[in-house]
Amino acid sequence: MANYTGSCLCGAITAEIIAEPKWVGNCHCPSCRRVSGAAFATYAGFDAAAVKFSGDTPNTHKSSPGAIRHFCNECGSSIAFEGEAWPEEIHLHIGFIKEADSLKPETHVYTKTKLEWLHIDEDGLPKFDKFSDQ
Ligand SMILES: [Zn+2]
Ligand SMILES: [Zn+2]
Repeated sequence: MANYTGSCLCGAITAEIIAEPKWVGNCHCPSCRRVSGAAFATYAGFDAAAVKFSGDTPNTHKSSPGAIRHFCNECGSSIAFEGEAWPEEIHLHIGFIKEADSLKPETHVYTKTKLEWLHIDEDGLPKFDKFSDQ
């Protein structure tokens, strides 16, 4: 029984996730903004082994050295991020996960490049210029 399920916009790519996320966070870096098409991107980080994709295989784009973005070839939905800095992890875009409402972000990262009109000061979450360990 999956803890969570995922689907792209067209349904060509689905997933079953058999674990709780290691973390949930909002990223305000320019790459995540571009790839998501939104003001910032929210991710849930899982053990890669806990995420079983079915249907089409996600297409990939190398967005920067050591970073791979996964998306649906058919509808273009952003699906996931994988980076060398997080071996054995896959970071799923929250919009890909059907039960997104039960995955609440715990942090903001890359607030250094946050859009100025976006106000996040009062949500009580920790905020980091880059990553939480920097
Ligand atoms: Zn799709
Ligand atoms: Zn980012």
